[in-house]
Amino acid sequence: MTRVPTNLPEHIQHYIGGKRVDSIGGERFDVLDPVTNEVYTTAAAGQKADVDAAVAAAREAFVSGPWPRMKNRERARILNRIADIVESRDSELAAFESYDSGLPITQAKGQAQRAAENFRFFADLIVAQRDDTYKVPGAQINYVNRKPKGVAGLITPWNTPFMLESWKLGPSLASGCTVVLKPAEFTPLSASLWAGIFEEADLPTGVFNLVNGFGEDAGDALVKHPDVPIISFTGESKTGQLIFSNCAPDLKAMSMELGGKSPAVVFADADLDKAIDSTLFGVFSLNGERCTAGSRILVERSIYDEFVERYAARARKIRVGDPSDPKTEVGSLVHPEHFQKVMSYIEIGKGEGRLLAGGGQPAGLETGNFVAPTVFADVSPDARIFQEEIFGPVVAITPFEGDEQALELANNTKYGLAAYIWTSKLERAHLFAQSVESGMVWLNSHNVRDLRSPFGGVKASGLGHEGGYRSLDFYSDQQAVHITLGDVHTARFGCSEE
Ligand code: NAD
Repeated sequence: MTRVPTNLPEHIQHYIGGKRVDSIGGERFDVLDPVTNEVYTTAAAGQKADVDAAVAAAREAFVSGPWPRMKNRERARILNRIADIVESRDSELAAFESYDSGLPITQAKGQAQRAAENFRFFADLIVAQRDDTYKVPGAQINYVNRKPKGVAGLITPWNTPFMLESWKLGPSLASGCTVVLKPAEFTPLSASLWAGIFEEADLPTGVFNLVNGFGEDAGDALVKHPDVPIISFTGESKTGQLIFSNCAPDLKAMSMELGGKSPAVVFADADLDKAIDSTLFGVFSLNGERCTAGSRILVERSIYDEFVERYAARARKIRVGDPSDPKTEVGSLVHPEHFQKVMSYIEIGKGEGRLLAGGGQPAGLETGNFVAPTVFADVSPDARIFQEEIFGPVVAITPFEGDEQALELANNTKYGLAAYIWTSKLERAHLFAQSVESGMVWLNSHNVRDLRSPFGGVKASGLGHEGGYRSLDFYSDQQAVHITLGDVHTARFGCSEE
């Protein structure tokens, strides 16, 4: 496989009302190859006027088009067609995703399958959808009239971009909403495939719209648009705070999947081989650019030295290199800006912990955004590398004594996305799960998830839980309809003679 995909577009446009268009004012931005940091294409940079046009197209499709009015079964057929097409493009998609984001090709493979699964899953759910009906015998019937909320604004980040876009597109479209997607500016390439996929699947015109561009322009205009009643956002916690305040004047519905600094807690009674495999994968897969990365490893004191030594030895052997090489385990970080951020945390870490692996660019990979898997041990809980999300291949390891201190350390950040517990004691695992402040907990495993279960964080890691029916509920209004069957008992106002 060649490193550069053969069918790269020379320029990436918006997709508005069924047409591929540039920004009205002609604005563009450069898109970089993360291995060389050279410009490989340009993308239209959406401004408020472009977002206005996309929202108008989506609104028209919502108010007058067939999509929100279709039978669930009809919508499901189109969603299943989308899934089939996505799946059939696995290789092209993986090549695009790996090239644009720097993800190792073996890890980019399978993203199309997961994206397809998101459409299939929500197609199945809406066909099986049932809503509540209540009978008050002889007096009243009450039922839920489920309705799509309207034009949904979908704003997504650059890590596994296509898969994360499908995560929002699947349930919003299944619910009957029409959408405007604003993909991350670092990675517009794979998102450019959606328009063709939806056209081929016969999604009605105007239901899907896409505006490329920067968060402060295109993203901001979408969030503030009065005809967009619902915003689904995945990204950094501080961006989430800003979007939250920008949604407040219109009291928009919001779902926020935000940052994390998730603990992986390894007790002395854990299966150490499995715990080491999993905690390495948990922070170094996807280049460490993973919201649920187990980026703080807490290890019980009695096994601490052994764990740290074995862990660091393995980390030093992780293969960093060309993302298109199937042997590569860690590729190149997405963008020089992000690279600088990660490198600055590594410098901070050198004053906060004991550096055991990595610590900068790997030898021979001095161009592009390569970072050697970096391990800091003996990191104290008040260290910045313990508290702050780095979002790269950097891990902080800290010892603990006993369950109480493990829990205290696990909960000692502003985040609460995931937690991973390694122990062979069933009761300890469940007790810990009950007290740890995180939206999701994995016991003796890492990030494997059934699509029916809730996904989301607590504290600074998110607002609301999506996943399964929760996602459909988020994109729908559940109107309560009450019908009186008999006489209505009404106090008669205005009938008094005095
Ligand atoms: P980011 O917050 O910088 O950007 C995310 C998206 O928001 C981009 O499309 C960006 O253009 C847009 N944006 C930025 N400012 C905006 C504004 N003012 N108004 C509207 N839109 C705006 O995040 P990122 O760097 O792209 O992604 C990495 C972050 O995402 C990490 O913090 C990671 O943990 C988080 N993340 C969370 C999850 C989850 O499910 N919890 C999943 C993946 C990534």
